Amino acid sequence: MPTDLLSPAASVQPLHFHATPKPAPQDDAGTQRWNVPDVQALFDLPFSELLYRAQTVHREHFDPTEVELATLLSVKTGGCPEDCGYCPQSVHFDTGLTAGKLMGVDAVREAAQRAKQAGATRFCMGAAWRAPKDRDVDAVAELVRTVKEEGLEACATLGMLSDGHAEILRDAGLDYYNHNLDSAPDFYGEVITTRDYQDRLDTLERVRGAGVKVCCGGIVGMGESRRQRAALVAQLANLAPDYPESVPINNLVKVQGTPLADQPDLDPLEFVRTIAVARITMPRARVRLSAGRQQMSEAVQALCFVAGANSIFYGEKLLTTGNPDVEADMGLLKKLGLQPRRGHGG
Ligand code: SF4
Repeated sequence: MPTDLLSPAASVQPLHFHATPKPAPQDDAGTQRWNVPDVQALFDLPFSELLYRAQTVHREHFDPTEVELATLLSVKTGGCPEDCGYCPQSVHFDTGLTAGKLMGVDAVREAAQRAKQAGATRFCMGAAWRAPKDRDVDAVAELVRTVKEEGLEACATLGMLSDGHAEILRDAGLDYYNHNLDSAPDFYGEVITTRDYQDRLDTLERVRGAGVKVCCGGIVGMGESRRQRAALVAQLANLAPDYPESVPINNLVKVQGTPLADQPDLDPLEFVRTIAVARITMPRARVRLSAGRQQMSEAVQALCFVAGANSIFYGEKLLTTGNPDVEADMGLLKKLGLQPRRGHGG
């Protein structure tokens, strides 16, 4: 095997016999800006070329054998007034889900301890609110403190934040705030009508303004075109002042009772392409293989790791849908020679 293929600094130049997508231009601050046709040109590359490039970029920034394990706990389930077409927690759809109240400190502490014992380094808490009230934010801040006391990174996803909320969560020790863009701007209205794209961008700006790291990604397989997948990735890669530190890429989980329940499956290789394009356009981000892993074969998950995914949601529940169980995940990582990331950072 040529040694340059083993080097983290391997060039992406040598292997192509076709038009090369242009590198993203830089803005005045020197930050790369991607336009949609250039991102789509990455999607359109021959599969092996795309994976080669993605793996090469991945090795420049990360240990390619390391995968972050994040656990996701629903701390307040169901009863959400939003109408996201993929979500069983919306009050607009009858999915048989029972709504619950915000979990207390003791239950969250126990769950955090279990997650840590199972090897997770990041603990994400999800609450099905459109936008938390002040008292909700104070209560979640208490949960954040609890998670931090257990020695885990803390992440929360609570919906749209008002002025001052991100600061309260930051002061409690929150490391990341998750707020997904979900789709391309021109597809958003097909899936969600109770808020618009700008609402999402406003919350992301508040999170950034408070100095909390951003976890932001999207969902593919909702009926969008490849161009729209490229437009979602371009939006994420171009977020100012920088792309998100964590980028969850979800494959639609079709839940009976939701409007997207009968959506045709996305070709698994198109999902792998989406991971690869996210890796190339956001080289330093943790790209997370998120919802939809349970429906993916081991071979497809392995391709996702080759394409640059280096974080997974781990544990029995992914909010309200299933997730491969801990032992199966550990077995897969072992089979692939991958190791859980230890400690904090990134
Ligand atoms: S995705 Fe979030 S905001 Fe949308 S309905 Fe579900 S819980 Fe509510």
